[in-house]
Amino acid sequence: NNTTLNTKRSPPILILMRWTMWQNRSCSNSSIQRLESNSSIHKHLISKITATGPISVAEYMREALTNPVAGYYVKNDMLGAGGDFITSPEISQIFGELLGVWCVSEWMAAGKSNTFQLVELGPGRGSLASDILRVFSQLKTVLGETDISVHLVEVSPKLSQFQAECLTGDNTQPNDGDQPVYRSGTTRTGLPISWYRRIEDIPRGFSVFLAHEFFDAIPIHKFQRTEKGWREVMVDIDPESPGKLRFVVSHSPTLASSILIQKDENRQHVEVCPEGGVIVQKLANRIAEDGGAALIVDYGHDGTKTDTFRGFKGHQLHNVLEAPGMADLTADVDISYLRKMTGNEVTCLGPITQRSFLKNMGIDSRLQVLLRNCHDPSTRAQLIHSYDMLINPEKMGHRFQFFSLLNRGRLAQYRGMQKNTAPLPVAGFAELDMQ
Ligand code: SAH
Repeated sequence: NNTTLNTKRSPPILILMRWTMWQNRSCSNSSIQRLESNSSIHKHLISKITATGPISVAEYMREALTNPVAGYYVKNDMLGAGGDFITSPEISQIFGELLGVWCVSEWMAAGKSNTFQLVELGPGRGSLASDILRVFSQLKTVLGETDISVHLVEVSPKLSQFQAECLTGDNTQPNDGDQPVYRSGTTRTGLPISWYRRIEDIPRGFSVFLAHEFFDAIPIHKFQRTEKGWREVMVDIDPESPGKLRFVVSHSPTLASSILIQKDENRQHVEVCPEGGVIVQKLANRIAEDGGAALIVDYGHDGTKTDTFRGFKGHQLHNVLEAPGMADLTADVDISYLRKMTGNEVTCLGPITQRSFLKNMGIDSRLQVLLRNCHDPSTRAQLIHSYDMLINPEKMGHRFQFFSLLNRGRLAQYRGMQKNTAPLPVAGFAELDMQ
């Protein structure tokens, strides 16, 4: 039923979001909720720095977010009104539905492979996958007998439970020990679903990869240009107040500062996410060898921004060095770096703004269909409000970018036949022609 209205979401209208906080950079530390810095990660990092010296920002961020015992993502449900931030798939079902149409459209354009793996990196509460799977069910006649499976890469045991509940009604079995597939089951729509900690454990085969607000959570290194050349920014103990952490600029080059800065770099300060680069290389390699595509959606820039490392707690800006493990840490994704790291293995499209992508995917007509079938005034208001949040340039419309990797064969024929001026025949990156 193409008019299904999913009423599980109702974000409060006054919720503050990460991108609005960013614009309000004048927000002073004194207005930030101060937390006792007594988290176990804080103590662990203080002893580590005391023993072996300052640590990189990447190590700090990795410990704070994914420490297996006390990391932020490992032990929290951070999404939604009661959490620390809210994301597009949580705001409106239309977002996931349009991405579902994109997945099917790319599967068709790539030749309707007999097997089709839907892979999501960092699925949060599972809302995006849930909306996509509903579209797959609605497009059963298009997908035919295709052998479809769902694969989730998730580091957080707690969030994997939310995902299992949302996608399967908890029809899953946790697997023992350190097996690559740590949970598996059947979705509400009858498809096999598996959970992994690492991309390399996903079976090979035609796959569409999705990463929504995933790359911004991957640790970055920070570098400062100095008179002596590039130096890495490190995290150290503040000598004035030994329980506190502070940033310092390393006196001498580190391994990271000698290998991660591009020769033609002209910024004064840069953030580099080598782990994100490795992940994108793995995606590119699989897409080149097994076929498929990837869609990466995040707040990002094309190699122009400098200092974007931020913390969020309870929808408020939060000092990144306070209470590690208790607040979200994030940095804008450098899409130019990801593009470089794909090498020549795949075709890259974008970045294109969320507004353009969703408009190209037909968000306006989708909204009209839902409104036509909805008579409850508050639900109608909610639909219109969330539509505005997604595409308004002042809200998420321009801040979020869509970037795609495609198998090189996907556009080869098109490039051979047509002049470069014709719109790309890839949904979302040009106006969608449903004929
Ligand atoms: N995509 C969701 C959630 C975004 S939050 C949404 O947009 O609503 C980031 C997600 O990535 C969480 O599910 C978090 O647990 C997961 N994550 C963070 N670092 C990860 C890593 N290194 N490996 C796998 N998953 C990770």
